[in-house]
Amino acid sequence: MAYRIPSVKVLEDSIRRVIREQQSIPSQRRFTELVLEDLHKKNPEYKVGEVRLRRMALHRNLAKVTISYRETKEPSRKGRCPVCCSPTEELHNQTLDDKMVELGVKCTKCPYWTGPRRRVPVRYNFTMFGAIVPETKKKGRYAQWKFA
Ligand SMILES: [Zn+2]
Repeated sequence: MAYRIPSVKVLEDSIRRVIREQQSIPSQRRFTELVLEDLHKKNPEYKVGEVRLRRMALHRNLAKVTISYRETKEPSRKGRCPVCCSPTEELHNQTLDDKMVELGVKCTKCPYWTGPRRRVPVRYNFTMFGAIVPETKKKGRYAQWKFA
């Protein structure tokens, strides 16, 4: 099937629109679906991958991206960032006897970091900067006390 890759401009517009309409999107899959839906209004052949969307949102500050992690038993190592595919760098600390101790790894482009044990992202949440708290979270038995 024929498909087209949307330009940076087209993609950025779609992401902005989706984020503004939704305010908050609780998963990467949903975020991708919504942006694709919006893109398809312009051209049904547009295609976009999850990583490209996430990179755009992070690197161009289109949304606040909150990442949930799971810590593994494996040691962390340098390599590509699991969130945005950018290079990572090692985090060191200097001990009293002037030796460098390796503490973990952090991304050079996005907020991803990991300690000595590798952390892997398990969930992404995309929220508009300055978004108001969603209605569903305000309701509840004790809402009147909390917000009084
Ligand atoms: Zn990154």
